[in-house]
Amino acid sequence: MRVLLVEDNAALAAKVRAALIEARFVVDHAADGEEALFLGETEPYDVVVLDLGLPRLDGLSVLHRWRAAARTMPVLVLTARGAWTEKVEGLNAGADDYMAKPFAIGELVARLQALIRRARGVARPEISLGHGGEVTLDTVAATVNLEGTPVRLTGLEFRLLAYMAQCGARPVSRTELTEHLYDQDFDRDSNTIEVVVGRIRRKLGAGLIETERGLGYRIALPVGKAGPST
Ligand code: CA
Repeated sequence: MRVLLVEDNAALAAKVRAALIEARFVVDHAADGEEALFLGETEPYDVVVLDLGLPRLDGLSVLHRWRAAARTMPVLVLTARGAWTEKVEGLNAGADDYMAKPFAIGELVARLQALIRRARGVARPEISLGHGGEVTLDTVAATVNLEGTPVRLTGLEFRLLAYMAQCGARPVSRTELTEHLYDQDFDRDSNTIEVVVGRIRRKLGAGLIETERGLGYRIALPVGKAGPST
């Protein structure tokens, strides 16, 4: 999952970024409102953390302009402690959740994961995959089991599997995967989508990810289910 972190306080941004990477997010960081506006308008983020007090363009204006441009990604706003008017303004501007500073970073991560699940219509963090339901993916604990046995995936492998799992039965193109799995600076050459899919198939079974000619990939779901098992 790819997150845009908009925060001008460098120390706080570094702490949040580290926690998000630990939770297997891909993180792009913007330190002012204009950069945030541009990135949010042009890149497909799964969720955004938006500080309201920002240089160059304030966070509320950024959010208003994203929503006016029909950018619908879930947005969690960071407000100053006790500033209840900021919460109201943020929610009115189209925010999906808010947290007041200072906040516990673990709670921020949990709320972002919940926002992503809600946006994709997946209610619980555990998802069963494979035609026999043999693979279990826990999006909160960031673990994967094959027939009850834990399997170690790299961060990139996990992100690809988790993204596909939340897309359900629809095919997902390589372009879409690329946009959601890598940050701007990632060296993509040795980690192309095809290579990552091949590694996942070796670890979790060749049938788990099916190739749809001309469309991309489709995740195998338990037989008889149209969407991810939740
Ligand atoms: Ca600020």
